[in-house]
Amino acid sequence: MTAQIIDGKAFAATVREKVAGHVTRLKEENGITPGLAVVLVGEDPASQVYVRSKGKQTVEVGMNSYEHKLDADTSEEDLLALIDKLNNDPAVHGILVQLPLPGHLNEDLVINSIDPAKDVDGFHISNVGLLGTGQKSMVPCTPLGCLMMLRDHHGSLSGLNAVVIGRSNIVGKPMAQLLLGDSCTVTIAHSRTKDLPEVVRGADIVVAAVGRPEMVPGDWIREGATVIDVGINRIERDGKNKLVGDVDFESASKVAGAITPVPGGVGPMTIACLLANTLTACCRANGLAEPDGLTA
Ligand code: NDP
Repeated sequence: MTAQIIDGKAFAATVREKVAGHVTRLKEENGITPGLAVVLVGEDPASQVYVRSKGKQTVEVGMNSYEHKLDADTSEEDLLALIDKLNNDPAVHGILVQLPLPGHLNEDLVINSIDPAKDVDGFHISNVGLLGTGQKSMVPCTPLGCLMMLRDHHGSLSGLNAVVIGRSNIVGKPMAQLLLGDSCTVTIAHSRTKDLPEVVRGADIVVAAVGRPEMVPGDWIREGATVIDVGINRIERDGKNKLVGDVDFESASKVAGAITPVPGGVGPMTIACLLANTLTACCRANGLAEPDGLTA
């Protein structure tokens, strides 16, 4: 079997198109322009790249982008004051504080100071609780993107066995909650899981979010399973820098029914879902119907 490639780049483009269409209608019919504020503290090069990319794509779908770049030694008090200002600004519908923050800042405190209704990353403790109890929430962008691709591929996920490898707060746990919400039978595997290959072999859906290059080989994958590879790992091969996932694409794509590549799979969906979440937050803030197919 040769797996169908789930093209995250193309899928993300359709999500952005949908968002842009809704934004146009919001402007024309309601006179509202969704706004996303991104806060970056310090000069971490990777964070700078992400923030630039987020700002660019926000503007491309017709939303307002507000970038706040603060010095690495910004005090917690000043950062919290900025967040308070953004919480109270009606032109700002989504707030994202780029992580990681410099060591002297308490990430939990900062994230939990964002108005949960504007928490487009879905990391606020209220949103975590709402998702965990199956209520309407803001959903973390990467797992939301994975869910959208899985729904698109399978239609209904009901009754499928899903194995999520990784139990982080930003990917593994919310991914498992979302799959449970769609009535999958969910197993969360992690570094202490016994006989991981056998656990993975039981899965109709495998989501790998580990951060270990090509850790999941093809012989762990059940024939015809759907494989979503969240991992982004930089390695050196044949003297060249290369980006690979947590799944060994070469061998897994011979067994799986469908698989996301790295790059070009889950990665592009993350920012597309950030834009979708900003649109959702804007619609909710204004008491308007939420866009179809862009939420969990
Ligand atoms: P974390 O490091 O926070 O979590 C990794 C998880 O993998 C942990 O739960 C850990 O288990 C588990 N793990 C580690 N080693 C093993 C092992 N040998 N067997 C089984 N499980 C193991 O990572 P993140 O969740 O933040 O990210 C995971 C990957 O996804 C990374 O490559 C990251 O770059 C990528 N990523 C991609 C995004 C995208 O946009 N595409 C967005 C976010 C992340 P334990 O808890 O027991 O330690």
